Amino acid sequence: MTQYRIPFNKPPFLGHELGYVKDSIANAHISGDGAYTRRCHAFLEEKLAIQKALLTTSCTHALEMCALLLDIQPGDEIIVPAFTFVSSVNAFVLRGGAPVFADIRPDTLNLDERVLPQLITKKTRAIVLVHYAGLACEMDAIMSIAREHNIAVVEDNAHGLFARYKGKYLGTFGELATLSFHETKNFTCGEGGALLVNDDSLVDRAEIIREKGTNRSHFFRGQVDKYTWVDVGSSYLPSDMLAAYLYAQFESAAEIQARRQEIWNRYHVDLAEWAAANRVQAPTVPDHVEQSYHLYYLLMPSLPDRTALIQHLKDCGILSVFHYQPLHLSNMGLRFGGRRGDCPVTEDIADRLLRLPFYYSLTPEDQERVIAALQAFTDWQ
Ligand SMILES: *Cc1c(COP(=O)(O)O)cnc(C)c1O
Repeated sequence: MTQYRIPFNKPPFLGHELGYVKDSIANAHISGDGAYTRRCHAFLEEKLAIQKALLTTSCTHALEMCALLLDIQPGDEIIVPAFTFVSSVNAFVLRGGAPVFADIRPDTLNLDERVLPQLITKKTRAIVLVHYAGLACEMDAIMSIAREHNIAVVEDNAHGLFARYKGKYLGTFGELATLSFHETKNFTCGEGGALLVNDDSLVDRAEIIREKGTNRSHFFRGQVDKYTWVDVGSSYLPSDMLAAYLYAQFESAAEIQARRQEIWNRYHVDLAEWAAANRVQAPTVPDHVEQSYHLYYLLMPSLPDRTALIQHLKDCGILSVFHYQPLHLSNMGLRFGGRRGDCPVTEDIADRLLRLPFYYSLTPEDQERVIAALQAFTDWQ
């Protein structure tokens, strides 16, 4: 096995995580909804100015909660970009939902709002969108189309915590939104996520679904004198030890984001001339968008160029990776009627996109090595 001197990702670790985990153990409340979970909820609710944030065991599980909350039934259609992680769609397919794959914009790689009108039918129940790389989708257009047709919007905001669209935080537009704290994300507790509830009428039921279909949260708040089975649900609460780990990172959010911004900007500035000279396309950040600095990608001129560059970087001890394969052409996507040519931008970009090493503890020296290795690449196809 090749040893990569510079990996693609290292989970952030600030140092004070362990103290908080120890404290949660000392508190003798290590199951869900202990003191640190409540701190994480309060942090997200205050920072994003939202009604309700609930930590979950993963973003995938938060998306499953969305499908339950929206009462997705067999045959209901869900519009989802063809260029996203499998969980954005699988969570709805689990309830019997039928995915309808939308193509993406060639500039931001986000769901192309211009294709929405032709994808909406009488059966459309939800638009699940992804703010790719933490750059906002065109929310004004998407929300107005959704409202006009009375369709719910779910923001899979796994990449975009603290990013904004026209000044408003991502994850605060749709009825529901989800976050991921997987180790590849800006903030992590290993495996974890959150559900953000922006529609007040869904708050009560979100708590119930997260607590195995019981009204346990009402009981703990003294709203009922015993708790019982009231709805469908599952167990979506993470351990308070994980919340403790995560809370330590929330407290350092500004520091983590500032460092990620520096890394992103350095790639963007230092590679601009090289990219232009070699027909490599760097990311486009629209003026009305503030991103979350989640990842740095390059669009290579062709698939053979990308393959050759990955190999060249590997020879330099650097791991670079591609990203999502088109969902409509996956084994499952084909079963839902996906065909080559349905989403041409997705099909083109999936073959050419390359992600560079990007993590909080990436040192300036190592970043310099990545940049120098790219500039030394000569094996253009
Ligand atoms: C990481 C990711 C997920 C899944 O997150 P988990 O917390 O691992 O379940 C879902 N959607 C997108 C867009 C992601 O990047």
